Amino acid sequence: MKNLGTIVMAAAVSGLSSTPARAAGCHTLETGRFEFVLYECDEKVSKSDAKKAESFLAETEQALGVTVAKVEYHKVALPAQVDALTGVYGEGVTLPKTGQIFSTRTFHAHELVHRAAIELGDPGRFFHEGLALALAPEKGWTVKDMQKRAKSVLARKPVGDFVKNFERMEQGDAYAVAGAFVSDLIAKHGVERVAELFRRAGRSKNADGAFVAVFGTTLDAATTAWAQAL
Ligand SMILES: [Zn+2]
Repeated sequence: MKNLGTIVMAAAVSGLSSTPARAAGCHTLETGRFEFVLYECDEKVSKSDAKKAESFLAETEQALGVTVAKVEYHKVALPAQVDALTGVYGEGVTLPKTGQIFSTRTFHAHELVHRAAIELGDPGRFFHEGLALALAPEKGWTVKDMQKRAKSVLARKPVGDFVKNFERMEQGDAYAVAGAFVSDLIAKHGVERVAELFRRAGRSKNADGAFVAVFGTTLDAATTAWAQAL
């Protein structure tokens, strides 16, 4: 599958220091609220990408009710460089500990959602990826696309496996299930309630308890009912 970008959970990558080296960047560029570290020496950030990034970040902050400090944004050419810097191969990676973004794109909405969401708290990767897919639609990953794939995948596997063992599932399937479920939560309850789930889970370190407190039903019951209705 096309790698959509990710967020690194602390346990997911061993040997990852909290502050990756930044010496490999060729030059830096400040645009509004972003500090770009550019790894290609002749590269610039286009005005249109800088503008898109600024307004998407502001929109996302408003939707989630958070404020993000200056974003340190490492722009590299290839997924292999993302891997070399973070330990994770992909088009984009956001590190929750430092807030740094590493990406092959100068405007990467998916990673900006991750960047804003880490200010809320951590209900687990299923919700982080689901929220990024719901708020930053990618080509080929509309809600309908994700629902269709989720329906076919969930005919064979229980939805709970994707919630609890996100990392271990086939990643395209896992992204589709998470994206479709979180899109549905937002459609039914609004993004503020989903943001509240992240906040509560961050405070309590208990995503299941936070889910019950915010949505009045268990996560297990909600995902099972949703999967059956697909
Ligand atoms: Zn992601």
